[in-house]
Amino acid sequence: MHSFSTTTTDTTKTQNETSEKISAEQNDQTHIDSGSNLIKKPGGYMEAEGDINGNTLPADGVPRWGPQHAGAQQLAGMYSDTKRLQETIATYTAAIIGAITAALILSNVRYQFLPYMLIGFVLAGLVADFFSGLVHWAADSWGSVDLPIIGKGLLRPFREHHIDPTSITRHDFIETSGDLCAVAVPLFTIISYCQIQYTDLSIFGLAPPSVEEQTHREYGTSFFLFVLAILVVCTNEIHKWSHTYFGLPKWIEFLQWAHLVVPKKQHRLHHISPHDTHFCITTGWLNYPLHWIGFWPKLEYVITAITGVEPRTDDLKWASKVTIR
Ligand SMILES: [Zn+2]
Ligand SMILES: [Zn+2]
Repeated sequence: MHSFSTTTTDTTKTQNETSEKISAEQNDQTHIDSGSNLIKKPGGYMEAEGDINGNTLPADGVPRWGPQHAGAQQLAGMYSDTKRLQETIATYTAAIIGAITAALILSNVRYQFLPYMLIGFVLAGLVADFFSGLVHWAADSWGSVDLPIIGKGLLRPFREHHIDPTSITRHDFIETSGDLCAVAVPLFTIISYCQIQYTDLSIFGLAPPSVEEQTHREYGTSFFLFVLAILVVCTNEIHKWSHTYFGLPKWIEFLQWAHLVVPKKQHRLHHISPHDTHFCITTGWLNYPLHWIGFWPKLEYVITAITGVEPRTDDLKWASKVTIR
């Protein structure tokens, strides 16, 4: 009988250890009801993740996706030490400059800025969500793992994620978010550059700010960029939460319930083969509107018309690699 807890040699963090431990404790009461594609749990039934239309669970109850998938194992093996080093440097750089930026943003906040901060927050939620969808769509739909540099560096985790969706919950922050930290570093740098001229640094023996008081719009713009950078850094953590079914802290479940981050149910729609909709993985605010206007198929139609290339051919190739056990 297939078990939902997994044995892994990957680096794991406390949250994932907790979630897997709870999962393991419930294992004796959890099983896949073969033929109905539902997982029986103590509290009732839950659909197998990524199997809403039953296209991955054969009658014997052993899913074709997961850590035992041959393609997933091959893709996981392509994670190199060089890539890890690059992600580690990006993560620590973003942490340092992000902390400095947060201090500058906090020291310059005034209650009069509140309406602009609110606008900045909503805009950042929309912009971050759109770009999460655009990058996700581009990486899922085009290119191949065999491409130089970006193949293994950027596209590999996207291919792995479709055939082993819960592998993300066994990866640590550096592996899931190192690349996103690299994107946030220039954003933090710009915000710090803008805000430092309004910051009183006299405690360090420097002259007080000589420029005039900052305008609402200037602070609002910096605040928008700050929330955007934070959401960019957190995008894959949020994505990880949408695949974590056990042991999530209550405050994260609240954020999902309030749609401040993409809810589990919504992201599961993306994991229905052939993975052609609901690409946004930050706030999820744009998933329904973009699906409703047919944004992704229209974009794909244009690209196919120009290049003659069909979307997701590489994704389908990896999905069809046979299961080994
Ligand atoms: Zn995807
Ligand atoms: Zn996912």
